Amino acid sequence: MGSQDYMEKTEQYVLHTYNRFPVVFEKGEGVYLTDVDGKQYLDFGAGIAVFALGYGNEEFNNALKTQIDNIIHTSNLFYNVPLADAAEKLAKASGLSKVFFTNSGTEAIEGALKAARKYAYLKEQAKRSAAAAASGSDGDTAPAAAPDDNAAAYEIIAMNHSFHGRSVGALSVTGNPHYQEAFKPLMGGVRFADFNDLESVKAQVNDRTCAIIMETVQGEGGIYPAEPEFLQGVRALCDEKDILLILDEIQCGMGRTGSWFACQQYGVQPDIMTCAKALGCGVPVGAFVLSEKVAQASLVPGDHGTTYGGNPFACAAVSKVFDLFEKLHIVEHVQALTPYFEQQLDALVEKYDFLTARRGKGFMQGLVVEGRPVGDIVKAALENGLVVLSAEGNVLRLVPPLVIEKEDINEMVRRLEKSF
Ligand SMILES: *Cc1c(COP(=O)(O)O)cnc(C)c1O
Repeated sequence: MGSQDYMEKTEQYVLHTYNRFPVVFEKGEGVYLTDVDGKQYLDFGAGIAVFALGYGNEEFNNALKTQIDNIIHTSNLFYNVPLADAAEKLAKASGLSKVFFTNSGTEAIEGALKAARKYAYLKEQAKRSAAAAASGSDGDTAPAAAPDDNAAAYEIIAMNHSFHGRSVGALSVTGNPHYQEAFKPLMGGVRFADFNDLESVKAQVNDRTCAIIMETVQGEGGIYPAEPEFLQGVRALCDEKDILLILDEIQCGMGRTGSWFACQQYGVQPDIMTCAKALGCGVPVGAFVLSEKVAQASLVPGDHGTTYGGNPFACAAVSKVFDLFEKLHIVEHVQALTPYFEQQLDALVEKYDFLTARRGKGFMQGLVVEGRPVGDIVKAALENGLVVLSAEGNVLRLVPPLVIEKEDINEMVRRLEKSF
């Protein structure tokens, strides 16, 4: 069968929710992909910021093979070895306290939202018990106050142009009316503010606010890094009002911006962080990670669960990803090569009138395209053996594997210029 046959079969049997480019990938090696016809592509998309280690890393693949031979799945009714290892490594890298593994980024967002609401719920209960104790009655049997007077805070403030996933909860905090339109009513209690506009966030805060959720660097929305004063201002606002800060590091985390997590460059710790994409380098896995404060007062047995989440196979992948990041000095490598990457992109912006700006952090970069559809450039790039992505706002998105070298950047520039 040739590529045409696979494309036709896919369109016949796979629900058409994606307009796919006419390429059927079969293999990967290093930072190059090969399609079924044997054509090679330099990959600056990494499966949408997933394949950080490059393709065919022998140590990674062997760790997966070994885990397959040991055990693939056990369920969360029992302990397993990779779960403990992976959780320790993620907790330490994030500087947070407790991990819940999911199967995707979207599910990590769902869990983060539930953890935040539970935290607010328990806080309200504690307040009621204290009030009941002060008035001499037993907190448990005190008559429930009218919900409007005394309901736990439940509102979430999310950002316009954010992306957090496609499930109903995650979609509810995704600031893109186009994605939401056909699926209303969504989860209630969500308000939107403008990213990088602290006053607009403050304007949405009230007594019902339990959490603020945002990406540290907006990805799908067009590669917008948070401005330091904004993120630090939101953190201060959350501290002042005991609102939880949820940072979505699903795309910008795991070394992509030159630190384990992008928020670490701002000196800002979230109360809850979500992680996925590069976390398992292609093995489907996500996580939400809680600070000690939230871990002590949120989800408990019975509140949340998943059959697959934390499964030994996925966790073996996570554990090995952390080991290889250390061994290959991935974070340091991204830091060291970022100035060169940015210089080359800035030179393109200088040279071509239709490129009007570069935005980004580390190996998460966007070029703003004007006057022609970015999709045409992405298509032309594929013809020239280069995988690049797009993002909202006619942005050309570059999220290469984190193991690229200088010559890969040079080759990317050559193939991209040919595509212009
Ligand atoms: C990709 C992405 C998600 C959703 O993750 P899935 O694994 O596709 O469910 C959520 N947030 C951000 C910032 C993302 O980039």
